[in-house]
Amino acid sequence: MNVLVINCGSSSLKFQLINSESEKVLAKGLCERIGIDGMFTYQPAGGEKEKSEKAMPTHTEAIQFVIDALTNAETGVVKSLDEIGAVGHRVVHGGEKFTSSVVITDEVKAAIEECNDLAPLHNPANLIGINACQELMPGTPMVAVFDTAFHQTMPDKAFIYGLPYEYYDKYKVRRYGFHGTSHSFVSKRAAELVGKSYDSVKTIVCHLGNGASICAVENGKSVDTSMGLTPLEGLVMGTRSGDIDPAILEFIAKKEGLDIAGLMNVLNKKSGVEGISGVSSDFRDLDAAAAEGNDQARIALDVFAYRVAKYVGAYTAAMNGVDVIAFTAGIGENAGSVRASVCEYLGYLGISIDSEANSKRGEEIKISTPDSKVTVMVIPTNEELAIARDTVALV
Ligand code: ADP
Repeated sequence: MNVLVINCGSSSLKFQLINSESEKVLAKGLCERIGIDGMFTYQPAGGEKEKSEKAMPTHTEAIQFVIDALTNAETGVVKSLDEIGAVGHRVVHGGEKFTSSVVITDEVKAAIEECNDLAPLHNPANLIGINACQELMPGTPMVAVFDTAFHQTMPDKAFIYGLPYEYYDKYKVRRYGFHGTSHSFVSKRAAELVGKSYDSVKTIVCHLGNGASICAVENGKSVDTSMGLTPLEGLVMGTRSGDIDPAILEFIAKKEGLDIAGLMNVLNKKSGVEGISGVSSDFRDLDAAAAEGNDQARIALDVFAYRVAKYVGAYTAAMNGVDVIAFTAGIGENAGSVRASVCEYLGYLGISIDSEANSKRGEEIKISTPDSKVTVMVIPTNEELAIARDTVALV
């Protein structure tokens, strides 16, 4: 079956058409600047990437362009819409309502809408994408795959904040965690690669991209994760602060004359390694700047790795041990220097790294030495494939 995987943002829409038998990507692309002007990028497997300006007043036009491109007589990859068996939609926040992926019905859409409060930038956009697809592909089954669902197995000791309990009761303020599709995909693959059963292995997944989070997966279940009610908590990220003393907010608000919206903008968009370094959120730029002697870039890299190592230590304690540590996403897959810095802190776990293996980029590889007490691996994530697999399983 061919599955169209849609990841819809407020002004953008990423898509991949995946054949579920071969698990190959048949075509992929991106609609950008929806509601502004419109830019369409499309690439069939093995073919040229095409980029063109196309008017996209709403997501419906964007999805129409996706369908037109996929079915185009020359550069398309299917003859008609009949060859697309299902659509899998990434949905950011499923609150406590969704513990796994689901076939989309009117009730499911209403429940996603009820989670809008928890992800005001993402969930409404995800719903717009679902509605636009349903309008243009009325007979095709659709599945919602949630970033939060994998973490719904966390025990209350991991998800309850040290706040008045009534905020949980009244507003469902708690840790949800994100990147669940990736943490689930990578931890499953890690178990396969070390030849252990998924339900008897302790794994720590370090999803280190522009947004970054860590997850403790014990016996196939997420038992703790570093992102919280929102993706702002936890690691120091590209531009997000991660954990800080909450009292800093009042202090900075007074000093800088900022209101809540202004503060949130600083914490989400002006902090992290970009805020520390004053250089960039991209680790390639940070590495280059640090190598040229830029001390703030060096500090940003040190702060990043130190925070990751502290979380690995915390999650080793949470699971009373760890068998596998897996690095994934843009930084985790590509930045050997970051992996090496993190692992330097982990000698106490009996971890030792093979520097030759660790110098590889973007491939599935074991980077620990044969005598390392914990297996350390790089496992490229593939959220689209995970969404396609869930979609096929449900339809
Ligand atoms: P997201 O999906 O959260 O936007 P990604 O997982 O795509 O993020 O990761 C993007 C980040 O990966 C970049 O900002 C950059 O810091 C890092 N990255 C990508 N390629 C490399 C590389 N070759 N070396 C070091 N870092 C890299």
